[in-house]
Amino acid sequence: MRRLHCEVLVVGSGPGGSTSAWMYAESGKDVMLVEEGRNLAVNSSEDHSLQQMDEKWRSGGVTAALGSPKVTYIEGKCVGGASESNAGLYHPPLSDGLEAWARDFQIADFGADELAPHLAAVVQEIGVSKRPFAYSPASQALACGSEAMGWKWTEIERFWRYSQRDDGGWDGHRRSMSETLIPKAIAAGCRLQSDTRVDRLLRRGGRAVGAIAFVRREDGSEEKIQIDFERVVVCAGAVQTPRLLRKSGWIHNIGNSLTMNPMVRIVARFPERVNVPSFGVPVVQIEEFKPTMTIGCSYSAPPHLAMWLEGAADDVRRKLEDWHNLAVFYVKVCGRGRGSVRTMPIFGDSLVRYKTHADDFAHLGEGLFRLASALFAAGATEVHSPLPGMPHLKESSQAERLRRILTPQNSSLSAIHLHSTVPMGENPDVCAADSHGRLFGAENVTVNDSSLLPTSPGVNPQGTILAIARRNILRILDA
Ligand SMILES: Cc1cc2nc3c(=O)[nH]c(=O)nc-3n(C[C@H](O)[C@H](O)[C@H](O)COP(=O)(O)OP(=O)(O)OC[C@H]3O[C@@H](n4cnc5c(N)ncnc54)[C@H](O)[C@@H]3O)c2cc1C
Repeated sequence: MRRLHCEVLVVGSGPGGSTSAWMYAESGKDVMLVEEGRNLAVNSSEDHSLQQMDEKWRSGGVTAALGSPKVTYIEGKCVGGASESNAGLYHPPLSDGLEAWARDFQIADFGADELAPHLAAVVQEIGVSKRPFAYSPASQALACGSEAMGWKWTEIERFWRYSQRDDGGWDGHRRSMSETLIPKAIAAGCRLQSDTRVDRLLRRGGRAVGAIAFVRREDGSEEKIQIDFERVVVCAGAVQTPRLLRKSGWIHNIGNSLTMNPMVRIVARFPERVNVPSFGVPVVQIEEFKPTMTIGCSYSAPPHLAMWLEGAADDVRRKLEDWHNLAVFYVKVCGRGRGSVRTMPIFGDSLVRYKTHADDFAHLGEGLFRLASALFAAGATEVHSPLPGMPHLKESSQAERLRRILTPQNSSLSAIHLHSTVPMGENPDVCAADSHGRLFGAENVTVNDSSLLPTSPGVNPQGTILAIARRNILRILDA
């Protein structure tokens, strides 16, 4: 078996892993960044396409947490993790939420003031910006409806950079990890090993001493290798990190407290054209009800509309004839449910379960009511039911129906924000890693990704994950 060696092994190259690899490499350590997925250019496939799902998402995006209802979720799987295909919306964490984490999970040296310099550095290093041109018409409709209801709304900044073309138009560039921190890590000497899945960590007493990994060859076969290291940083995402740790024999408080932000989508019809796919991801969110619920506008190209338009095939085809007048909107709640991640013997895959909290159904229903009210206030002529077989709403007075529409039996929920499977802090009852991500019961194992967030942050999490990852490595290097 081929054996490789490094000082620091980083498993997974999403926001947490890229930050860790870069900072360790900058400090002069011999770092290897191992990623299960392929090493593809950020624009190797069109955004929101089947090819992108196939290339950059685990199992092509067909992954679900079992429960009543099941919740479909997405995990990135490529160099750069989910940052390569996500919307890149940047939302700073809410101060109250950070203080609650510090208090409830006993996280040392943690809070809005402590995280502020790290957030500022993240914004500086990666780059976030607002659009230099108008919002999409669908975003404008949401903003207009929000104003009519007297609610605060905002344009969310993105990990994105815009450049102006000679013809005066604008090109947007995603500031994913493969475009930002990974090249910096490589320039600082980090070795990137893609197409390589770490299967388990080898333990000697309280230390991890190596990793057994499988390298995918071009012909589809796999080569088994061993990577020896002095320290390992596990950043495989909120599902794969607990899977790997549990498979390697660490189980204390690991994989028991998965949180998500469940969401539902609805389609609304307007008398004028609101759907212009060239505007890309809509950036307007209603601020008024955060963190309990976030209301926003989704990418609405015809294939996406078709997913959220219920009805028989002919019916959907007919509705899509005037797709320019239709757009998809969402309600996402700060999930209070809890789930678990377990390793399936023999298959080695993860078994993910999630119990949606009764409050989440109530908040999703309330959010749908508010969303529909805002859309009618903005001039929508029809709001489609989120459930099959239910009549569509034709006027604002009918929006009330949405309040109690969702039940565990009828809902179809999805999630793209997953966290909390290795909560950090000093509270021994619930935490699996200390205040800086060092795994309890393991001298040289750190976790540094979305798994550490003690509960759902209630806002887009990538900025928080990056800032916490930066804070943790700086502290560990300083120790
Ligand atoms: C469709 C989508 C849209 C999103 N939009 C936004 C948004 O607009 N704003 C926002 O803030 N957040 C967004 N998110 C969430 C955000 O992308 C994630 O929270 C963030 O990427 C999590 O970072 P991470 O470092 O924990 O891991 P991930 O990004 O999940 O990366 C983990 C990496 O580890 C690799 N890996 C896993 N297991 C192994 C193993 N055994 N060996 C080697 N490698 C392994 C995986 O292949 C993956 O590439 C979105 C997510 C999705 C899926």
